[in-house]
Amino acid sequence: MRNWNLRLGRVAGIPIEIHWTFWLLLMFVFVGDFSENGDANAAFSGVFTVVAIFTCVVLHELGHALAARRFGVKTRDITLYPIGGVARLERIPENPVQELVIAIAGPLVNIVIVAVLLAMGTVLPEHIEDPSALVKSSILSRLLLVNTSLVIFNLLPAFPMDGGRIFRAFLALFMDYAQATRIAASVGQLMAIIFVFVGLSGNTMLLFIAFFVWLGASSEATSVEQRVLLKSSLVRDAMLINYETVSDQSTIESVIQLLLKGSQSEFPVYQALTGEPLGVLSRNTILSSLAEKGPGGLVRDCPLDKLGRERGSRPLVAVSQQMRENGQTCLEVTDDSGQIIGLLTQDNLAEFIMVQSALKYRET
Ligand SMILES: [Zn+2]
Repeated sequence: MRNWNLRLGRVAGIPIEIHWTFWLLLMFVFVGDFSENGDANAAFSGVFTVVAIFTCVVLHELGHALAARRFGVKTRDITLYPIGGVARLERIPENPVQELVIAIAGPLVNIVIVAVLLAMGTVLPEHIEDPSALVKSSILSRLLLVNTSLVIFNLLPAFPMDGGRIFRAFLALFMDYAQATRIAASVGQLMAIIFVFVGLSGNTMLLFIAFFVWLGASSEATSVEQRVLLKSSLVRDAMLINYETVSDQSTIESVIQLLLKGSQSEFPVYQALTGEPLGVLSRNTILSSLAEKGPGGLVRDCPLDKLGRERGSRPLVAVSQQMRENGQTCLEVTDDSGQIIGLLTQDNLAEFIMVQSALKYRET
């Protein structure tokens, strides 16, 4: 669905995008306001409020992104979803002080906005609990309310939301990073359960957020756990030594045979004459090419992914992170003289992690 995102432009070199579901929200607000008041002006004012709110959200995300930049961490993009914004940082620093600064920079932006609004003499809307009365209050009052709630909400220790990250970074000052993450993730999931109970009493948005907090907490806890497990491993520890390769002259049918015969799902492709590496044929491409070109189609006509190359003596953590960031599924592994000695794929990396965690389980 990526192509449906609308790119608004770049701020400080960071692309700002609107997720396609965000349009649904705007339409929903417009139609809702229009049918309630029968007045296009009121409906446009509703839409304008949403846009103003999300501008504050973008500023919040830019706070994170620019703080991250100070520590040399790039931001791929900032995307607006109906439930809020996400700044996709390339990585999250394991240095607790850096994570603390990055996590706090977002809410800090909203604190500044609140301070400016207060200095302008803005007051909170009178009937906060009544959404229909809220529509009648001024846009500045509504913005004050929104930014105040963004600050309070984001500071709750609901990992991986900002407050949870601040909490994890704080814990990591006193204990090891994996343990700090485990505790923060458990507290985050507890918060998610609380959100569900509060959300069930009529706040649908909170139910969505609970869902994302729950998933986010468990997935980030797992990935930190993995990094710790892989800490002392090298690329060559996890590589495949016996694997199949295909030539660009092979038929799709012959690759299907390889796919069915073994557990390998990515195949490096070499030029038949020169042996020059051309790319990687993934399982998805094999299947879609089979549907498109039939079993007699040739590998050279299939779209290939990029085939990376790494030294076997490099640390596995760094290389697996690099593979994730570049969207690589497969790497040729070489020895220090550049000779190819194996293949590293996402699949056997995942297998290696499972084996390592089983071994660790046995130790403890
Ligand atoms: Zn934030």
